Amino acid sequence: NVRVRFAPSPTGPLHIGGVRTALFNYLFAKKHNGTFILRIEDTDQTRYVKNAEQYIIDALNWCNIPFDEGPNKNEKFGPYRQSERKEIYKKYAEELITKGKAYYAFDTAEELDFHRKNHEEKGKTFIYNWHNREKLTNSLTLSKEEVEKRISNGEKYVVRFKMYNQKKDVETINAIDIIRGNVSFKKEILDDKILFKSDGMPTYHLANIVDDHLMEISHVIRGEEWLPSLPLHIALYEAFEWEIPKFAHLPLILKPVGKGKLSKRDGDKLGFPVFPLEYKNEATKEISRGYKEDGYFTEAFINMLALLGWNPGTEQELFTLEELSQTFSLERVSKSGAKFSPDKTKWFNQQYMMLKSNEELAKSYKVILSEKGISKDFNYITKVVSLIKERATFVTDFWELSDYFFQTPVNYDVKASKKNWKEDTSSLMNELIPVLEKIEDFNSQNIETIVKDWITSKEIGFGKIMQPFRLSLVGAMKGPHLFDIAEMLGKQATINRINKAIE
Ligand code: GLU
Repeated sequence: NVRVRFAPSPTGPLHIGGVRTALFNYLFAKKHNGTFILRIEDTDQTRYVKNAEQYIIDALNWCNIPFDEGPNKNEKFGPYRQSERKEIYKKYAEELITKGKAYYAFDTAEELDFHRKNHEEKGKTFIYNWHNREKLTNSLTLSKEEVEKRISNGEKYVVRFKMYNQKKDVETINAIDIIRGNVSFKKEILDDKILFKSDGMPTYHLANIVDDHLMEISHVIRGEEWLPSLPLHIALYEAFEWEIPKFAHLPLILKPVGKGKLSKRDGDKLGFPVFPLEYKNEATKEISRGYKEDGYFTEAFINMLALLGWNPGTEQELFTLEELSQTFSLERVSKSGAKFSPDKTKWFNQQYMMLKSNEELAKSYKVILSEKGISKDFNYITKVVSLIKERATFVTDFWELSDYFFQTPVNYDVKASKKNWKEDTSSLMNELIPVLEKIEDFNSQNIETIVKDWITSKEIGFGKIMQPFRLSLVGAMKGPHLFDIAEMLGKQATINRINKAIE
């Protein structure tokens, strides 16, 4: 029974790394007919951002990867917000203390600082571990009465995990990661991590393990940055005597150029925001635009993301979400970092542009047009889309590529006019008008034949007419087949535009 979770902390907009973690969890769940759970890890009150939870939910929905269980949805194992589970964690922290696997520590920040400095002076680093814990102020060194007195006096304390005693134990903790194979960690670097704070809140580690256990998580799929926490998590499962889930740590997402991890700043520098929804941070009023606002199709975004660290083992690059759900496997996720490519991301969008129906694209374009106060027949918009879409990456490119279909050019490209509008051009264009007027069935094919015959009969080069003709209709030397444009505009508008250009 596969049960996986995406467990973000609601501290701000999602980085694409976060969305990818959600996607891989989703795909793994779908592949195995499992359950995809959303858990909100909001125990760190200092980093909490008010709208972030809704933002995360909106982002998953926009990505088309909704969760099966989570806040306000199939709450079988709820609540799914850790801030609402405080009592549970407290109970488990106490259980560990009773078992002798955790202890109260009363050391103040000043005391710990003192020890740190002391160690530094001797060229050593201070770690709160088996070696030092016996010299510090905690329930292992104080009498039972003293501990009780301090707690009932309201003195500040934390609960610390009693990490293995390195003296007696073997030197490494070993684990199997589905992506990385055998991983091992030196015990000597492990310290007695804080599990519970006197503000009544657990730390990430305790809450995470308790919830994964209670929510019956079978596979923990998360970013590589959590790999260093794995030995502690394993030690915690062992201390509780709970079954350990399987782990898969996903590779880092790397900058497009140079070395290192992709960061929010890279996104901005590239003019390429990494967040999939418009999001406002209430505290800073900062708006993060994202893939959605930039005109990315969900399908393209998801397809790009799926291939960041995973590959199907074939040449295939375009996958529907359904296909991904069938093909995905953790075994084919790579260990090494995945380079993020903005160009490739755009390429995916172009591919999906070609796959989408003209009607669907026209619907989106219609919205943009209405915002500009332009209302046109839906069939007309659909036709325009069919003529320009192969040149576009985003629907938001449509206007620049097709404005002349909706309005008479206001300006004419200066360079192109100089080059193509010669001394005799106006009189030639004047002669062209009655030729066009006579065309009864004003369709692209007809216009082309008749205009070309006329040019031939005049024994002048095609360019002498075709270029100024295009300039008159479009205002620049761009656009699809000229006679298609003329047909779309219709006879009267075509003639009007030539007249206007002659002026
Ligand atoms: N709350 C952690 C995060 O923000 C979850 C890490 C995990 O999946 O264990 O990524």
